[in-house]
Amino acid sequence: VLLGCVGLPAEAATRTTGTVAAGTRFETSYYVQQSDAAGPTVMIVGGVHGDEPAGACAADQIRCWPIVRGKIIVLPKANVVALRAHKRFTPGEGRSLANLNRNFSKADEHTPPRGPLAEDIWKLVLQQKPDWLVDLHEAGGFHRLTAETVGSTILACFTAGANQAVPFLLKAINDTIDDEEKKFLVFRQPRDTTLARAAGTHLGINAMILETTIKDQRLSLRTRQHRILVHALLSYLQVLDPRVTPDRMTDRENPTGRVWVALYDGGGSGFRAVPRLTGILAGDKTAAAIVVGPPEIRHGALQQFAAAVFAGGIGSQQAESLGPAGRQQVQQFVERGGGYVGISGGASLATSGFDWGLKILDAKTVGKQWRRGKEVVKIELTPPGREILGHRTGPLDVFYHNGPILTPAGSDHLAGYTPLALFRSELSEGDAPKGLMLNSPAIVCGRCGKGRVLCISPRPELTAGLEPLVLRAVQWAAGKND
Ligand SMILES: [Zn+2]
Repeated sequence: VLLGCVGLPAEAATRTTGTVAAGTRFETSYYVQQSDAAGPTVMIVGGVHGDEPAGACAADQIRCWPIVRGKIIVLPKANVVALRAHKRFTPGEGRSLANLNRNFSKADEHTPPRGPLAEDIWKLVLQQKPDWLVDLHEAGGFHRLTAETVGSTILACFTAGANQAVPFLLKAINDTIDDEEKKFLVFRQPRDTTLARAAGTHLGINAMILETTIKDQRLSLRTRQHRILVHALLSYLQVLDPRVTPDRMTDRENPTGRVWVALYDGGGSGFRAVPRLTGILAGDKTAAAIVVGPPEIRHGALQQFAAAVFAGGIGSQQAESLGPAGRQQVQQFVERGGGYVGISGGASLATSGFDWGLKILDAKTVGKQWRRGKEVVKIELTPPGREILGHRTGPLDVFYHNGPILTPAGSDHLAGYTPLALFRSELSEGDAPKGLMLNSPAIVCGRCGKGRVLCISPRPELTAGLEPLVLRAVQWAAGKND
């Protein structure tokens, strides 16, 4: 399928796609960009192990980076069966085949790849004849702290090309890491029977595995680290359009016409909320959700998105992680027309009563006792709420966890908010004052500059059956419905 050629300058690379393991349960797409200008061919692979999502996320973004010479082939989700199950070992495969990254040729014997998926991936390598192969993985712990794990390392085959390139990758990534113990280093060669080792040994390719560390690091950060490393390699090879930064996450050509939604994934965001929201938004064929962290927000990355969702956790921690520069970026994003959806802690973040608040919603929280407890409570949509969030009448059960109780702030630069739902039950554990919650707003919306702000105190993203309400909230903020 040809995706290129529409409205692009003549020198733009041609974009094509193809399929690996067509017609099987492993069927997955690969993406090719071919420039007219001669240059190296680079193959980038993600998602070989299903419990290492950052490589798949990063590769799916990198495939859209425009190139100016050579060719890139990106296989973002090498093992869709394992990715869907979030498992290292491929479900439904016998023990000897379950680890896809042990199914490639042995270094000393040149045995054929084992199993239909490894066979098909290897066929793609032989057909494309890359000069470079980069396989994006993740490990449990930091190698500098725990010698048995390979987290935050580069495992490169011993070729002259790789030896020359790796210092550029290391410098690029380590410039972004303050903590010495979390910095990347070059470790050993890739293990025998991995895709990278087989490519390096048998085809003489400059092949390497890049390993991020899952422990204590959010998906957004690990995905960004993969982007930074691949960006450094493609820049070193002078393949990449020099205007592309490592924080380019969306496809500017956007052939599918999807609305890009940023899911804040950083300090103070909910650990359960972000994966749940990813799942909910995956059900909307018109939206594409991408996890975004504080560093890329500070670098202006929200400009690429139609809406941003800040969910769960603690608003003050979100504010602290964003820092003054990040908060200013979010404010500008909304003022210029971006949509904001705040859930629980993310709703507090939007308010105007705290020093650290974004002040994009004319609301403040009632009282200082925010620990009201966690429980299923009742809410009821108002008539404007039914217009925006769906025509549900009567009380709805929704999970609640210390969300803010909102009241007008009387801000002079914002118009007042509109209640979209009211609490129809009361929860006030411990010292929390009683009677404040019942009939107070549970969901509100407002405008800030050209942007739309919608804040939800309870946790519909964690409540089975309320997924459509969350989806409609995001669509409204993104300007997709009125
Ligand atoms: Zn792995």
